[in-house]
Amino acid sequence: MRLASSVVVEHGYKRSALYDLANNRVQRIPLELGAALAQPHLYLTKPQEKWAFYLEENGFLINEQASLWRPYRSDFLFPRIPKLHTLSVDLHAALSGEFVGWLLRSTNLLSMTHIVVMTEDGRQIEAYEFLKNINKLRIGGTYEILEERVPGALVGTLFDGNLTPRLQRTGSPSQLNNRDFICADTQVYSLTRQYSELVGNLHCDAEGCIFSHKDEKTYLLGTTSSQLSDILSSERYRRASKNTKDLRDQCKYCELRYVCIHPFTYRLDPHNIQSSPSLCVYDPCAEAPQNQLFAEAP
Ligand code: SF4
Repeated sequence: MRLASSVVVEHGYKRSALYDLANNRVQRIPLELGAALAQPHLYLTKPQEKWAFYLEENGFLINEQASLWRPYRSDFLFPRIPKLHTLSVDLHAALSGEFVGWLLRSTNLLSMTHIVVMTEDGRQIEAYEFLKNINKLRIGGTYEILEERVPGALVGTLFDGNLTPRLQRTGSPSQLNNRDFICADTQVYSLTRQYSELVGNLHCDAEGCIFSHKDEKTYLLGTTSSQLSDILSSERYRRASKNTKDLRDQCKYCELRYVCIHPFTYRLDPHNIQSSPSLCVYDPCAEAPQNQLFAEAP
């Protein structure tokens, strides 16, 4: 018996979880069973055999020779600080000529794959003009105009490299629910880890202050009076970039940490980027099953 080819096992403090990357499913299992599944040869106790039967019936396990089993290690997916991929800019900063000059001096922008400009109502044309200026830098990837139409509800219009509108997406920050778990295939899994940790992002607010995300208000990385390359080589940026859920209080014990995209800006101590998440309804150290997290999202 072995794990199905699209299934990986990750361990938490009290439980393990099976991520079925092909079918967008997460199944929590007992920690001991998770440890057994991580071994090349599977020896199961009687209670674990019942679990194995359930998992086989639901396609997480396949009944084949144990010798075919290859233990999966996810850590190789995230060995280095990922390159900068997303820049978001408050329109106020975007309109200042100084900011455009700052961007033009910044060769690091060439690695960007997503540029987001955040607008207020009625300023979409100015936002589009700014994107046209940035487009002259020939940044590959996508562009986006993000509007806060009603408080707490975001509407984004995505453009391709020719600034042709591609699609609209909406989102609103909410308490963690089962929609906060994303996995599709190994490539998306790897990307999800990067995006869920919010590394590779930079945000420039209206005053020209640089943060690691548009919702980050406390952990300042620098200002537009510094060169972008200096900000990216600073200790503060390295610390923010390495701030994965593996290091954060509570999340580091959670078997769901690689599929959870609960934003790191929701944290109990705003001054400590490794502090426990706020608004998380899951306690990875509790014995209780906490099935509410897996209920159908409203
Ligand atoms: S935010 Fe909550 S569910 Fe997500 S990884 Fe952290 S502890 Fe787990």
